[in-house]
Amino acid sequence: EREKGQRLYRHTRDELMNDPLQRLELEHDLRKALEREEFELYYQPQYDIRNNRLIGMEALIRWNHPKHGMISPVQFIPLAEETGLIVAIGEWVLRTACSQNKRWQDSGLPTLIVSVNLSLRQFQKHNLVGDILGILRESGLKPHYLELEITESMAMDNVDRVIRKLNELKYWGIRISMDDFGTGYSSLHYLRKIPLHKLKIDQSFIRDLSTDPDSAAIVSTIIAMANHLKLEVVAEGVETEEDLRFLLQQNCAHGQGYFFSRPLPIGEFERLLHRERAG
Ligand code: C2E
Ligand code: CA
Ligand code: CA
Ligand code: CA
Repeated sequence: EREKGQRLYRHTRDELMNDPLQRLELEHDLRKALEREEFELYYQPQYDIRNNRLIGMEALIRWNHPKHGMISPVQFIPLAEETGLIVAIGEWVLRTACSQNKRWQDSGLPTLIVSVNLSLRQFQKHNLVGDILGILRESGLKPHYLELEITESMAMDNVDRVIRKLNELKYWGIRISMDDFGTGYSSLHYLRKIPLHKLKIDQSFIRDLSTDPDSAAIVSTIIAMANHLKLEVVAEGVETEEDLRFLLQQNCAHGQGYFFSRPLPIGEFERLLHRERAG
């Protein structure tokens, strides 16, 4: 079942990156990919699982390589990060996601929050806040319809500076979400200090819900903690009805995963929006 989601990609995880020549070629191609318009955003819906309402979508980048076909972000994001290309790519992602969301809102489709993944380099960029405000202004999207996903390791990097930056983003109305929660090392002490709107429970815990009692315990603990701290909580990687039932039992409000939908290209996501509007 897990393979199905990867069927789009012709290469297994490290195939391209482990061959030095392939890697060099890939780096060269990555430099050209933006101007050649080879990137595309897919959108994966997020639901309020208590009433089945669509509440938002996560933008996920895809690279349509002319020779290798679809390349997974798991392969090229690390390369983009190492080479610094991630800054330009990340800006393209933000600009594309914001203007797409604004276009959907303007055409009378349901008003949703779009989540965008930030990478470490991008997050560390001195003028991140100014850049994002510029992109919001340009697209016309209101800041509270944009959510930025950061990871624990990004947040723990230089805590005081990170808190200042996140507070600034929050001041402007931009939402912050902690991705892959539970896999990093963020202390509960800082979790209280960091201005956050949402925790995303890492999909590895959801995957093992039915087979591993420890994972189930971790998931219910994260949900309870988030609820106490008045943080929104999303379970990632929900694949089965059984997962869903457990999450509802534990008072988890939001879910994302193949059980609801895979990440969709814009045309298909648009059809989903139309169905949602129709009720
Ligand atoms: P992520 O942010 O944790 O994104 C979730 C990943 O899980 C996505 O993989 C999504 O397709 C997959 N997924 C969603 N539901 C399920 C499910 O039910 N089961 C399983 N097994 N998988 C599910 P994807 O799109 O291949 O992205 C992988 C990673 O690449 C992302 O992990 C994120 O870290 C990174 N990434 C993707 N797009 C961007 C981007 O625009 N910028 C940056 N910096 N990173 C990105
Ligand atoms: Ca994410
Ligand atoms: Ca995640
Ligand atoms: Ca499972």
